[in-house]
Amino acid sequence: STTRTLLLAGNWKMNLDHLQAISTVQKLAWSLKDHRVDVEKTEVAVLPPFTDIRSVQTLIQGDKLPIAYGGQDLSAHDEGAYTGEVSGAFLNRLRCTYVIVGHSERRAYHSETDEVVAAKLRAALRHELIPILCVGESLETRQAGEHVAFTLSQVERAVDGLSAEELAGLVIAYEPVWAIGTGETATAGDAAEMCTAIRTRLQELYDAGFAGTIRLLYGGSVKTDNVAEIVAHDDVDGALVGGASLDPESFASLCHAA
Ligand code: PEP
Repeated sequence: STTRTLLLAGNWKMNLDHLQAISTVQKLAWSLKDHRVDVEKTEVAVLPPFTDIRSVQTLIQGDKLPIAYGGQDLSAHDEGAYTGEVSGAFLNRLRCTYVIVGHSERRAYHSETDEVVAAKLRAALRHELIPILCVGESLETRQAGEHVAFTLSQVERAVDGLSAEELAGLVIAYEPVWAIGTGETATAGDAAEMCTAIRTRLQELYDAGFAGTIRLLYGGSVKTDNVAEIVAHDDVDGALVGGASLDPESFASLCHAA
């Protein structure tokens, strides 16, 4: 990760209401200062529930806090009769930088196929949001030794038909399903192996220049005491953090450790 800015993104999942969001982001900003996290070198982002985003925007922009924010999902559609969905256009209007696309919990509990994920990725790009595309295998797939082929095929299906220009800025998070919320972390070696495989495939699909700009994150039970080893590899440009991002003081110490 020599020329790429490290990204530490906190996926709050369905935790923290809009009042808790305000105090969490406020405390996170203080703690980042306290830990002297160099926000030029290490970008910190939070991904709160939709109902929190307006409050988070008001606080971050009002106080000029060095924290980026975004959504955890978006609709594949832009507007209309899609009850319960949220458009990328609305996230853009709230000045979101990022949006998670294809998180394994969306794939598993909301039947998001690779086709749906590809449509959502396009929706994010249409609305000038940086997609954090999540990919990663189940335990069975890993035990069968198919984890690299499986994960690369998820990447390929998501970006199929899109040009390097259209995908500029894309972030990909390798999140092995068996390591999410389980306390089970892939080894730094496993994370590096997959990130290198993804970067190599991007180079084959596009070119080395493009592949070199894409940030590849690892996600799955990342904590303060394992983050440094994980991001030490050249191909790993940060982490997508679930549980350990909810407490602002410990998320700041994780950012410092990275
Ligand atoms: C996630 O769901 O994106 C994640 C990485 O969760 P956790 O850190 O809690 O394993």
